[in-house]
Formats: sequence, structure tokens, C-alpha cells
Amino acid sequence: MTRVFSGIKPTGHLTLGNYLGAMRQWVQADQHRSDALFCVVDLHALTVDHDPARVRRLSRQAATLLLAAGLDPELCTLFVQSHVDEHARLSYLLECVATDGEMRRMIQYKVKAARERERGGSVRLSLLTYPVLMAADILAYGTDEVPVGDDQAQHVELARDLAVRFNQRYGHTFVVPRATLPAVAARVMNLQEPGSKMGKSDDSGPGIVYLLDEPDVVRKKIMRAVTDSGREVVYDREGRPGVANLLEILAACTDGNPAELASVHRSYGALKAAAAEAVVEVLRPVRARHQELCADPGYVEGVLREGANKAREMARPVVDAAYRAIGL
Ligand code: ADP
Repeated sequence: MTRVFSGIKPTGHLTLGNYLGAMRQWVQADQHRSDALFCVVDLHALTVDHDPARVRRLSRQAATLLLAAGLDPELCTLFVQSHVDEHARLSYLLECVATDGEMRRMIQYKVKAARERERGGSVRLSLLTYPVLMAADILAYGTDEVPVGDDQAQHVELARDLAVRFNQRYGHTFVVPRATLPAVAARVMNLQEPGSKMGKSDDSGPGIVYLLDEPDVVRKKIMRAVTDSGREVVYDREGRPGVANLLEILAACTDGNPAELASVHRSYGALKAAAAEAVVEVLRPVRARHQELCADPGYVEGVLREGANKAREMARPVVDAAYRAIGL
């Protein structure tokens, strides 16, 4: 059976980008057709300045939202990364295979390091090595497929390179994984800055739809989305990024096609109203289930404990084999 692994960072409240780019595929397809593991990657939240209590709270919230969105612990394994030591154990070995130049070429590193420096902060070494830890997350489980949004494709490529290099140098140890991207909404853009992606760690609230936003807040954010001075609705990602983003959001929420939807909703106002209602409908059951789960924290706790036990059992033989292969 195909092994699937993917993760989500508890660096902020989960967004519509996380949902359409990743979580929806996990819930609707991956958990049903494969042996899937989903992980709240809390170690990755330590790569930038953070408040310890907030990381802990956001980890629990992310796990609760993943369950609320429809992950079923009977079908898949849901756990928190730091509960399974194998990730950090394998990460070090992979650091011994990766190169300094390869790490510095990662786009996310360049962007995030520049942002840290702009703020006058220092760049943590873990921000540079984070893609290696991500490779360890993936390779520890003999993963075949990694369902991610477009922004993570380069990191999955690195995991592939490291697996191939390790196997060539030390003997066959790792399955070589590949990224799988959603057909639409692989990169949901910020509603106020359609040139940059809707990221949960960003501070520009008005351009970001959070999964727990009230329906009226969702409507307001989408109705105020930045478009352009044109009038006609056309699907053109380069020339009309704001409108294209709304068309993709609407398409993803309604299982439609962005180009076809452009001929249905003829004005910007109509398009925004349709997108806002579609998003409100998609998020409604997620918010309701989240509220129910919050009333039963013991349940979430139990799922995560059980998930970590299962994950550990799966990862240990792979990581032990890597230790032997490399000479330890
Ligand atoms: P973030 O950038 O919000 O901190 P994570 O790194 O935790 O997100 O990513 C979790 C998953 O959500 C990844 O598969 C990532 O590719 C996907 N994702 C994040 N933001 C977006 C977006 N704006 N559009 C599509 N997918 C996204």
C-alpha cells in the first residue's frame, strides 16, 4: 500500500491556504487510499522566535483542527513530531549527507532569513537546516508520496536527493519519495497582496482567511480582496493574480474549474460574493466539529498518544537501519 506522509507547522492559526493546499487532499483522498501519517511538526516551529506556551497551544489546536477537518484516526495516524524521537535522530544523519550550499539555495530559507534580518533579529541555524529535518520526517516512514502545497515542493525534492545520495553511498536504506500537489489552489495567495502566498506565520491578518474565522469575518475579508482596475473576469494568474486567486479558491471549494468559473461570474462583485459563500460553506462543518472536540480534550490527547506509539513503531526500524548503514 502507498505510504503517505505530510505535516503542518504550529506557527500560527491554520489558514484557508493550508486547508485547500494540503488538508483537503489528506481528508478526502489520501487517508482513504493509502497508509497515511499526518504530523503536527512542532520542532519546525522553533526555527524562528517563538513563545513556548503558544507553540504548545498551537500544536494542540492544529491537531484538533485536523480532526475537525475530517482526519479519522481509524484510517490514518495523527501525531506530534516531538513525541517521536526518530525524527531528530535521523535528521543528524541526513545533515551528514546534505551540503551547506544545497541548504543555502532553498527559497524559503532565503525569504525567511531576509525577513529575520530586516526585523533586526538573528537567523537561527535551525532555519537553515530545517529542510533536512523535513527530509527526516519523510524518509523515516518509507514514504512514497508527500501531499503538499506548491511552496513545499522544493523541500520534497531535497528529501529525494538526500535519499538517493544516502542509498548510493551507504546501500539501499530509504524509499525515494515524491511530492503530490493539488490540481487547483496549490498556492493560495494573500487576499491583500496577491503577489505573496497566504501564510499562517505572516502578520497581515486582513489578507488571510483563518479556518476558525466567523462567517462574517470570512465574507468581509473576501469582499475586500485586492483585485485590479479591470472589469471583466478572466483567469490569468500572471496578469490578474488577485482575480485568479479568487477563481481558484472558488474552484477548489466547489470542485469546479477556474477558467470555466470565469465565464459564470461576470463581475468582480459577483465573483467575490460566490467565493465568500463557498468558503463559508466549506468551513462551517470544520468550525462546528472543532467546537465539539474542544469540549473533549481527553479524546484529542488519546488520539495523539496512540498516533505517536504507532509512528514510533514504523520509524524505528528505518532509522536503526540508517544508523547501521552509515557506520554506527
Ligand atoms: P505555512 O506556510 O502556513 O506556515 P506549513 O509550512 O505549515 O504552512 O504548511 C502546511 C501545508 O500547507 C503544506 O503542505 C503547505 O504546502 C500548505 N500550504 C501552506 N500555505 C499554503 C498556501 N497559501 N496555499 C497552498 N498550500 C499551502
